[in-house]
Amino acid sequence: MKLGDFCLDLLSEGRFKFDGGVMYGAVPKKLWEKCICPDEDNCVPLEMSMLLARTPAGNVLIEAGIGPNCPPKYHKIYKIERTSSVKEELKKCGCSPEDVDYIVLTHLHFDHSGGIGSPGREGIVCPNAKIVVHEKEWRYARNPHIRDDGAYIAEDIDMIEKSGKLMLVSEDTEILPGIKLVHTGGHSPGHMVVVVESSGEKACFAGDIISLPGNERLLWVLGLDYDPIESIDAKQKLLQQMIEEKWLIFPGHTPYCGYIIEGEKYPELIRAGSLRL
Ligand SMILES: [Zn+2]
Repeated sequence: MKLGDFCLDLLSEGRFKFDGGVMYGAVPKKLWEKCICPDEDNCVPLEMSMLLARTPAGNVLIEAGIGPNCPPKYHKIYKIERTSSVKEELKKCGCSPEDVDYIVLTHLHFDHSGGIGSPGREGIVCPNAKIVVHEKEWRYARNPHIRDDGAYIAEDIDMIEKSGKLMLVSEDTEILPGIKLVHTGGHSPGHMVVVVESSGEKACFAGDIISLPGNERLLWVLGLDYDPIESIDAKQKLLQQMIEEKWLIFPGHTPYCGYIIEGEKYPELIRAGSLRL
């Protein structure tokens, strides 16, 4: 789809499942199940969403999915259904991996960064790309707290380091004209969202600040957030701009994008485009 002079493509490596309660934190199930239907194990589907932004100044891939190297135990726990890969998804858009200039990782949890490459095999999936990570995320991923160390896979982090392609950012940065990284923290210490702007139109890849339907509501933050108060504060700031300036929103784990409107009681995400129309 077009956004001003840019071309945006929503890509996906497949799906996995996660406990619904964890995705909505303190929100009672009676409320969140109106937004997404849990299965018999109380799990909800999460898309491994990625966004390709092609701009006159360069091409940016946001996120890299779970990738092929995830430990078998994760496949079992999260019921991972990998139906595609970064390379296949780029090919569908007519973009070669060599043409990607930046891969932005909103954070380093395994479901966002694992597809960056194959340790000891092919190397980094886009050989010419810089891998952009927030400096706070990088430091934390090296030494996570026991509560969330399962979300970081040391081999993936090592692979990024050894690639020599790591680009750390420590403040909000425009890596290319119209591609701005905004630190939110909250979900993880160095979580960022990506704000895309061309010819006055704006879009946002929201990562895990808005992961699933319902997460656009201010207090509906994830139970596994590192700092839920920081998530709420960051979301509050963004929500206002998202609504007022009619940003096209790409949630971190849905097969569709949409616009957020001020609903009767809560902000609501209205779907605008989908992977599987
Ligand atoms: Zn995630």
